[in-house]
Amino acid sequence: MFLKCRRTSFSWECNYLVVTYSLAELYPLLCCFFSPSTLTAHSQTLTPSWTQPAPPRRSSCTRPPWRSSNTEYNMNSVSKELELPGAFILGAAAVPSRIVGMNAELMPLVLTEKEGQPTVNSSYFSSINPADGQCLQKKYSDHFSDCHFGLLGNLFACEGKPGKVIEVRAKKRTGNQSLVTALRTTLEGCYPDKSLALGGTFVIQKGKAKIHIMPREFSVCPLNTNDDVNKWLQHFEVSAPLICQSVLVSRDPGLDLRVEHTHCFSHHGEGGHYYIDTTPDSVEYVGYFLPAEFVYRIDRPKETHGVGRD
Ligand SMILES: [Zn+2]
Repeated sequence: MFLKCRRTSFSWECNYLVVTYSLAELYPLLCCFFSPSTLTAHSQTLTPSWTQPAPPRRSSCTRPPWRSSNTEYNMNSVSKELELPGAFILGAAAVPSRIVGMNAELMPLVLTEKEGQPTVNSSYFSSINPADGQCLQKKYSDHFSDCHFGLLGNLFACEGKPGKVIEVRAKKRTGNQSLVTALRTTLEGCYPDKSLALGGTFVIQKGKAKIHIMPREFSVCPLNTNDDVNKWLQHFEVSAPLICQSVLVSRDPGLDLRVEHTHCFSHHGEGGHYYIDTTPDSVEYVGYFLPAEFVYRIDRPKETHGVGRD
């Protein structure tokens, strides 16, 4: 899924609407400030930059391995295809395993190329450290010079210019939804007949969070249920400050989307796929979000499934 916003942009230095309440009060108020624009949905095909043929089936498995083929996309190509060359892109994805040599979580943070502007890749990636089984986070450009992603990606692209954004400040979680799920379900509840999409970044300033990191190797047997996926993933509790990149759609506009996806990184070596904070009493968030005008589903699979979408 690719969210695109041309109208305005995302920047730390721009003007913003300020919302400062506890989590319980925040979400109904968010809708008061939020004037929804129409989200235009597109299903688009794109030639991947690389596709791996399906690996041979193991005799012990009755079905092919999970993700039996591996496809990679180049963020430069995608931004040109979506008519936003030079886009600033953030979100959640997987690394191109052919290039990185393993499976890992990708925290894309890329300024794509355009005439007179080279690619700037500030992404991070997290894998399982084979030495101790713990999180190993690295800066992508310290090891690789491309800007591909693989497996799946939920990305937000904008022009990167200063403009109005929505600022969200929240602390003390009183419900059982993550910040992102609460934002999404509130938008869905306030505008039940619309699909609204937000992309942006938030910082967990205090507290801890539950994340997962995919193992370095793909599962050799299919993962047919959420239980199978959760047993395969490695889960960790990581500490603030965490910088999270989020992409969400309040309601699927008929594109078979994963409706929310958030990856986080830090400057103390921890990062991965964000679920929720684990310290509801002490957690504090500040975030900046922007509504999208377009949502693209690129190369929608013919067969759908509901596994591993949280
Ligand atoms: Zn993820």
